[in-house]
Amino acid sequence: MRSMRNVRERRGSVGEVFDLIRTGQARTRSDLAGLTGLTRATVSQRVEVLVGRRLIYEAGEGASTGGRPPAVLEFNRDAGVVLAADLGATHCRLAVADLAGTPLVEFADDLEIAEGPEAVLGWVQGRIGELLEEAGRDRSEVWGVGIGVPGPVDFSRGRVVNPPVMPGWHGVDIPRKFSKGFGGVPVFVDNDANLMALGEHRIGWPGSEHLLFVKVGTGVGCGIIGGGNVHRGAQGAAGDIGHIRINGHDEAVCRCGNVACVEAVAGGWALVRRLRELGVEVGNSREVVGLVEDGDPVATRLLRRSGELLGEVISGAVSFFNPSVVVIGGDLARAHEQLLAGIRTVVYGRSLPLATRHLEVSPSKLGDRAGVFGAAAMVVERVVPAAAEGVAAERTG
Ligand SMILES: [Zn+2]
Repeated sequence: MRSMRNVRERRGSVGEVFDLIRTGQARTRSDLAGLTGLTRATVSQRVEVLVGRRLIYEAGEGASTGGRPPAVLEFNRDAGVVLAADLGATHCRLAVADLAGTPLVEFADDLEIAEGPEAVLGWVQGRIGELLEEAGRDRSEVWGVGIGVPGPVDFSRGRVVNPPVMPGWHGVDIPRKFSKGFGGVPVFVDNDANLMALGEHRIGWPGSEHLLFVKVGTGVGCGIIGGGNVHRGAQGAAGDIGHIRINGHDEAVCRCGNVACVEAVAGGWALVRRLRELGVEVGNSREVVGLVEDGDPVATRLLRRSGELLGEVISGAVSFFNPSVVVIGGDLARAHEQLLAGIRTVVYGRSLPLATRHLEVSPSKLGDRAGVFGAAAMVVERVVPAAAEGVAAERTG
């Protein structure tokens, strides 16, 4: 993970010592001396600093090799908490997580992002404060906040940029608005598909360096993990695959103003539109999934066709990026058998053998929870190493 790569450049630093303990590579002071090449005295100094910062503790005794058994050092994941909010277009999930990024309590509800930043952020602050109480934790214990939003984000500034489905949010300083209620802690904001990709990667496929997460919900988006980190691109717009053109569908007008965008032919809102044209009563993408699960033949055929159309775009991305895993998530992926069947047919049929030989196309392992796991990971991977080093967390790539 990124924190580990960074500390390799700081051999023997407090940060490296901490990372060896956090990841379980070192359990005792002599493990640390062996792995870092530091003297016993320097190792003890580093350990003292980390105990002082409450990031590690001595958790009893390990196996003795003669003489007094050595103290076992453990990462103190309960030294603080982080707050995670995954805000979708019409739905949200909030969590309080420990410093390993594991949710302690979670809450999900409907939420209209289009109500604007004042209403939405105010509500989220209030609700997440209640969640903190439910977890039995105090505001002073919050180390940082991670927020996912359904639009393009300038990550370094924590601002949404020209979001198509978030009226009133353009340029809003989300960190400033949010951090006030939590003692000025660092607040990180990213696009929801990026965070879902991060969550799936950290929990589901930690060993795969290159992963694509395709979110197929009302719209279509993609999060990219390259070399273990989120790849955002020059302007934070990487992975915005929903508006790639699909040939032969000029009749499909997209909500972006163009025609034949992949989400205008294969996204959840496009399926709703098509089903209504065919006389089927349906309100949103979750109801489309409901029809498929009930065996409705028209909805099933359309969803499978959506999979094939998505497969065209995904096979292009696979040739271009050569991931080892493509994870399919989002509301429509609840009916993943039909959707994945279509995607797999096209991806394996069309991409070059070298790109697909070891390629896994898989449904999401975390489902609705991918975004909060990713939001929590985004925060802990910045604030925890920074705390170990005794510096402030930075809002960088
Ligand atoms: Zn479009």
